[in-house]
Amino acid sequence: MTSIRARLTIAYAGALMGTMLIFAFALWTARRGEAYHDLEPYVSAEADLALNIIRQTEGTGQPVTTPQPDSQETLATRPGISPAVSAQLASIPDYLIVLDDSSRVLYASSSVLALDPDDRFALMQQAIVLPPTGGASVATIGSQKLVFAVRTPPAGSAVARVAAAASTDPSSGTALRDLITTMLVTAPLLLIASIAVAYMIAGRVFQPVDRIIDEVRAITDGRSLHRRLPVDSGGDEITRLAITLNEMMERLSTSFNALRRFTADASHELKTPLAVLRADVERAMSPTSPRTERLIALEEALQETTRMADLVDSLLTLARADEGRFDLHRERVELESLARDAFETVAILGEPAGVTVTMPTSEAATVLGDATRLRQLFLNLGINAVKYTPRGGSVEITLKRHGSSASFSVRDTGIGISAADLPHIFERFYRADRVRSRSAERGGFGLGLAIAHWIAEAHGGTISARSRLGRGSTFTVTLPVVDDLGTVEQAGQSEASAVV
Ligand code: ADP
Repeated sequence: MTSIRARLTIAYAGALMGTMLIFAFALWTARRGEAYHDLEPYVSAEADLALNIIRQTEGTGQPVTTPQPDSQETLATRPGISPAVSAQLASIPDYLIVLDDSSRVLYASSSVLALDPDDRFALMQQAIVLPPTGGASVATIGSQKLVFAVRTPPAGSAVARVAAAASTDPSSGTALRDLITTMLVTAPLLLIASIAVAYMIAGRVFQPVDRIIDEVRAITDGRSLHRRLPVDSGGDEITRLAITLNEMMERLSTSFNALRRFTADASHELKTPLAVLRADVERAMSPTSPRTERLIALEEALQETTRMADLVDSLLTLARADEGRFDLHRERVELESLARDAFETVAILGEPAGVTVTMPTSEAATVLGDATRLRQLFLNLGINAVKYTPRGGSVEITLKRHGSSASFSVRDTGIGISAADLPHIFERFYRADRVRSRSAERGGFGLGLAIAHWIAEAHGGTISARSRLGRGSTFTVTLPVVDDLGTVEQAGQSEASAVV
């Protein structure tokens, strides 16, 4: 029995049995307590009644005791209770013993005489030794517990002590036996009925879970990830489970789609250069092609090979970053010299393109990171700025320090990015205007900003972009700086305004 339904039913039956046992024990204890309690006034009343009979007889002047023949010595006599008083005392049902001042038994009720000699002797001992109180006390005689009430009449009486006693057994025994019998009979029936009900209820409760299992099995066959589980109104556990599973499937579906798109884009990007490469090689190998055309074809092939190598390199970088396998060096890096290097390279690239590149502000800042990757990040932004700025435009690079963070900005007066494209430019293979960038021979793969984003994040920083179509763009990277001891100061994330 491994199903939760079976386990729940067993647990429920166990709990029920435990509860029933505790209940039975509590009831039994209470009933026993009550038995003692009820007997006390009863036995006291019997003792008081016996005493009153004796006193009333004495009050009328009649003898309470008469000499009676002793059973052992036939000629001797010993005092005994008078027949008239004895007849009255016989109406008292339980154990009753009347003693004189020498502790001789004047009267013993028939139930005392019916006891076996040992019990009778023990009973009489208790009648002699128990203190005469107004209430009652408990003593054990043989196998039974007796409640005793002992009374002494005022001085001058022929009687010295009256003791009445009653067993707790007759009053409690039958009632308790009845109780136990009832419980033994009803408990198994109750248990079976409760297990059946519990099994039914558990089945009902788990019906929606079974339904969810079937649905999830149908959805996760791989082709139906767009489907979702039906969610009932009401916030019970099953509903919350369905909502959580739906959210999980949403995330799975998003990552599967991203993976599919990534693979499709990567294959597509490789297909074109491979086709060009093939055509170039065929041209170079053709015996009819003149020598100069062959050389041109080979040069084109070399260019395509370089492009493909770049693409594969970028893909590898992103794949490793995704897996978290990229070991970034962690060393103190002076951002100012890195930014100057990047500026000089971008300025050289800007010259033939007719784009003026300046660096008006450059403040000292040290970060903990990988110099090669940070240089790649700065260059990506700088090269993009030159790439997407038409002749006559300008690019401005700045490095500023604000408290615990440093910001590297690249502002251009280029073609800008539309509001619709802006939220996507950090996505892999996203190119805002594919036709234009390709035709202008600027065509990248749409991976540069995705890599820039990863580098910034891997350094605990952010990257953001602000842009207006036709007016230009500003890309800003914010990185946490380290103090002189090399500890990273409080990272300033507030710069990330526009995009990521
Ligand atoms: P690519 O290799 O195509 O430049 P990126 O990831 O570097 O890929 O950039 C993604 C897209 O963002 C580009 O295709 C371009 O449309 C847009 N973009 C990036 N930088 C700029 C910029 N400075 N000005 C205008 N558009 C830009």
